[in-house]
Amino acid sequence: MASNVIACPSCGTKNRLPLAASGHPRCPSCKTDLPWLVDAGDADFDSAVDTKTIVVVDLWAPWCGPCRMIAPVLETLSRELAGRLKVVKVNVDEAPATAQRYKAMSIPMLLIMDRGQVVDTLIGAQPAPMLRARIQGALDRRG
Ligand SMILES: [Zn+2]
Repeated sequence: MASNVIACPSCGTKNRLPLAASGHPRCPSCKTDLPWLVDAGDADFDSAVDTKTIVVVDLWAPWCGPCRMIAPVLETLSRELAGRLKVVKVNVDEAPATAQRYKAMSIPMLLIMDRGQVVDTLIGAQPAPMLRARIQGALDRRG
């Protein structure tokens, strides 16, 4: 699975995002927390969600119109909550075992996970404020 490269929002340095890390990714040049958005499949799903930050798993597919509405919202949230949120995108067509494990019958389906456990589930294209509130709720429950 190809790793994602993003430009640092602060200084523009190109950074390769790790699929998994002990902490969260920071820009080596200016130490800014980087938005962490990665693609994962069946083989690397567990390592992708095994992280210290809150994780939002986006179960999506290329043919799913509502999924395309959610994608930019998640990108925005990953920037706004850099350092506290990780977005893991899973194409269910390429990850049938993961889709079955979380019973992703209807997509888009979002799993909010904390230390590998699902703490909230959203099905369907929820409006941005709703998504933001549910993710914030998971962050708040951590204190
Ligand atoms: Zn930077």
